[in-house]
Amino acid sequence: MKVLVVGGGAREHALAWKLFSSSAVREVYCAPGNAGTAIIAHSVPVRHDDIPNLADWAKTQRIDLTVVGPEGPLGLGIVDHFAAHGLVCIGPTREAAEIETSKVWAKALIARHGIPTGRAEVAESPAAALELARKLGYPVAIKADGLAAGKGVVVAQDESQARGVLQDFMVDKTLGAAGARVLVEEFLDGEEASVLAFSDGRDLAVMPPARDYKRVGDGDSGPNTGGMGAYAPAPSLDARTLTEVRERILAPAIAAMAAEGRPFKGVLYAGLMLTADGPKVLEFNCRFGDPEAQAILPLLESDLVEVLLAIDRGALGAMRVEWSPTLATCVVVAASAGYPGKVKVGLPIRGLDSVESGAIVFHGATRRDRSGRNVVTSGGRVVSVVGRGRDLQQARSQAYRGIGEIGFEGMQYRRDIGAEPVAARLLPALAASGSPPAAVAPAAAPSGAVVEGPEALVSSLSASLSTAFAALGAPGSGGESAPPAAVTVGVIGADAADGALVDIVRAACAAGGVECDLATVSPYRAPEELRRWAEGAPGRGARVLVAIGGSAPHLPGLLAAMTPLPVIAVGTRSANVSSAEAVAALLALPPGVALAVAGLDEGGARNAAALALAILALADPARTARYLEARAAVART
Ligand code: AMP
Repeated sequence: MKVLVVGGGAREHALAWKLFSSSAVREVYCAPGNAGTAIIAHSVPVRHDDIPNLADWAKTQRIDLTVVGPEGPLGLGIVDHFAAHGLVCIGPTREAAEIETSKVWAKALIARHGIPTGRAEVAESPAAALELARKLGYPVAIKADGLAAGKGVVVAQDESQARGVLQDFMVDKTLGAAGARVLVEEFLDGEEASVLAFSDGRDLAVMPPARDYKRVGDGDSGPNTGGMGAYAPAPSLDARTLTEVRERILAPAIAAMAAEGRPFKGVLYAGLMLTADGPKVLEFNCRFGDPEAQAILPLLESDLVEVLLAIDRGALGAMRVEWSPTLATCVVVAASAGYPGKVKVGLPIRGLDSVESGAIVFHGATRRDRSGRNVVTSGGRVVSVVGRGRDLQQARSQAYRGIGEIGFEGMQYRRDIGAEPVAARLLPALAASGSPPAAVAPAAAPSGAVVEGPEALVSSLSASLSTAFAALGAPGSGGESAPPAAVTVGVIGADAADGALVDIVRAACAAGGVECDLATVSPYRAPEELRRWAEGAPGRGARVLVAIGGSAPHLPGLLAAMTPLPVIAVGTRSANVSSAEAVAALLALPPGVALAVAGLDEGGARNAAALALAILALADPARTARYLEARAAVART
């Protein structure tokens, strides 16, 4: 069988890769393809939206099956055109593709068929849109009607932002005709997820849910992009929610399309907000997402050709589409500097041939240079690196190891793809509380009992800390009154000579994203001040203390007697204490003191900071992934 993939991005590389693995397939072609697809498929020098030439080429080459990646050609009617030439092309017809190509039409369909979504109305002028926004109350989502390559939706926080967006879309026409009409939609709060399904117009096969990352920067900062990463399956969608999405959203949408005379064949993509009132539709797309395809296709165990042929024949209901029950994937996209704005192209990419991590590399904007020897960049999203593993944590670390092996000038990628669910899985109890340890109802281990596994350890740790904080009346103990202070590390030296080490700890903690609460207090001259500092530390947000003995080598031990917080000691030589004496003083403590000795001098200060960050990472899911990455980086050096 000869198959053609229309498109030239990483999604199409993933499709070509999956089709290539089918025993039914003899040749794979990609139009236009890229340097990566060229390894497994023949590149066809026809643009993806040049439909008449694509159809002519497919006819002459006797292509048996065509699958379309991007929405552009679907919106232009590639499926209708191919069908008219007797060619099998999988995807929705032009009319069915309107579920994506006109947000206004899609919203009306959703409303007519009672599919859960946000309230919205159409506006044909900026004034009308502002009036609707006022009625709904800010923030509101303003959505251009037509295709806008991910740039057509802005959540406006207030009227002045809304005015700016409407000026862009409707007056300056930055999106062309796509912005002539807008939808003004109520703001929906919750976690986002994408659920895609194969459909033959009547039956559907739901894929593992995915989560994608649209913003360019870590922590969802910066402008929207085509997509910077994804993972699947998304654990936020449990089996019950997934059934709800199928029964209340996907199946009714497929039935609605059939009822309105536009049966939907292909991949229906529901962009969802998981609100407190259940999942609601943000948008429908009429094809695989990029990078969702790169996350989902490696999980498909069935032969993709068989699935596509079943879609064509309307026989999906009779087929069982199989997905790996044991595999998870994580996709990290490497983009050019400046993306999603203007980018430089033609930059050599190194490391593509020798990715040892086991990650799959799907090419996006890549091509061969004139010599044919080197692969160079040719656009914004250059490669998608896909890690696979038993769980997201493994998949994620393989993806990041993989991307670490690749490079080009100015390469940028997000460091937090999949970070949150990994942290949440590591620390389920803490994640459920969403706040510092005190809010958790922990299963405390009886003292002296063996605690098994990191989760049990964290529970028991949080139990003892919550008791300590409750006793101290610190923020986080009851939760009702003052908001909790930002988490810090308390760092104390005995005199000014310890300043350099204090500064090393501060800088290393800052590099890990943690502020320090600094003090210099002599235990000889101001013991009461030391007690006040120690007792007030939890209230100032400290969860760990680092003490630098200097000329007062007993300072760390003394401090440990004054606080329930863990204390990390750094020994140091001073005018009157040798290294050996500093260490001896720290080790000569009675049993049961919660004090760790990180070492001596500069190295000790650095390790004290590392240990402090490790302890904080245990207590805060948001920090765990960052910490694990930092550790992996240390291990690599
Ligand atoms: P869409 O193209 O409709 O999926 O919108 C792009 C992005 O805008 C979504 O992924 C959401 O992050 C955001 N968005 C769209 N509609 C809403 C809404 N009603 N409430 C909150 N955020 C939204």
